[in-house]
Amino acid sequence: MKVTEHLSKAKDPLISFEIIPPKRGGDVKGLLSVIEDISKYKPPFIDITSHAAEVYYDETATGIQKIIKRKRPGTLGICALIQNKYNIDAVPHILCKGFTREETEDFLIELSYLEIENVLAVRGDDNGYNKPVPAGRSANVYAGDLVQQISSMNEGKYLEENLLDAKPSNFCVGIGGYPEKHFESPNPETDIMHAKKKVEAGADYIVTQMFYDNKSYYNYVEKCRQAGINVPIIPGLKILAVKSHLTTLPRDFYINIPLELSNEVQEAKPDHVLDIGVDWAVKQVADLLDNGVPAIHFYIMQNSRPVNKLMDKLKLHKKIF
Ligand code: FAD
Repeated sequence: MKVTEHLSKAKDPLISFEIIPPKRGGDVKGLLSVIEDISKYKPPFIDITSHAAEVYYDETATGIQKIIKRKRPGTLGICALIQNKYNIDAVPHILCKGFTREETEDFLIELSYLEIENVLAVRGDDNGYNKPVPAGRSANVYAGDLVQQISSMNEGKYLEENLLDAKPSNFCVGIGGYPEKHFESPNPETDIMHAKKKVEAGADYIVTQMFYDNKSYYNYVEKCRQAGINVPIIPGLKILAVKSHLTTLPRDFYINIPLELSNEVQEAKPDHVLDIGVDWAVKQVADLLDNGVPAIHFYIMQNSRPVNKLMDKLKLHKKIF
């Protein structure tokens, strides 16, 4: 079922998760046990991130060697498992970066054969590698271009014109949103203007980047509504779990951690940090639920322990999903 149908049919707010494929050569068993574990919360859908090739440098006897490697393949296989083994709708992330439009079309065809009806279209992280586009091929630059490609396929328009019996695809399309503004955008208004264009191109809902101050989410939703964006905006949360998150999360995701939280974590013993992060998330979730959010999306990567602790505490607070 489509994410938008899940949202419109739900009587209570939904809980969804985002997981990341194992590193190349890794075992999928660990991830499967995470999926099994979180399935007890009956998530209507689970997102699986996608990762383009990255550049690495290796020092060899003959000099520095440039290596281009896709560190985390496997999105498609994990989606198939989630959908068919666990009966949970899978939401693969689709990227501009690292893929030609032709490769994207092939990927979308694979997904529709697997009866996967949802995708989240994002540009992709900048990992230092710009894949050359071979002659005769084309590439999506911004996520809006990707949304347009998927919308065209939904209308039966494939890249190759005049395909005989071209069947329209039927994808529900999510996009990313940034309560604290995308780091490249000159101001929040421009960022929201681009989000609006993505919605006009066919995006059906928005999932936000993580945030630790709910005010930034409420402010973002208000500005989106004022700009005429009327699709659901699902808040994304990540439970702060280790001290190093104080620096890695702002560095990797361009987000702020409120002073009160960072002070508490700085002063805590390492084995107490997860409890602090969970307590902070409990307050965020309770407030979001009181403010009528349609769903809450948790970035859990490959670790369900923080969210299990959170759910136990939410039960105590009678704030359950
Ligand atoms: P875009 O919408 O293309 O925007 C990028 C920047 O360009 C913004 O500043 C925007 O304001 C601006 N812009 C947009 N359109 C235009 C235009 N037409 N002209 C000029 N400027 C424009 N990364 C991964 O690699 N894999 C993932 O699986 C993944 N999943 C994600 C899931 C979520 C929910 C979110 C929020 C992010 C995810 N990311 C992922 C990270 C994302 O790829 C990066 O944040 C990326 O830098 C921007 O992606 P976007 O889709 O917002 O890009």
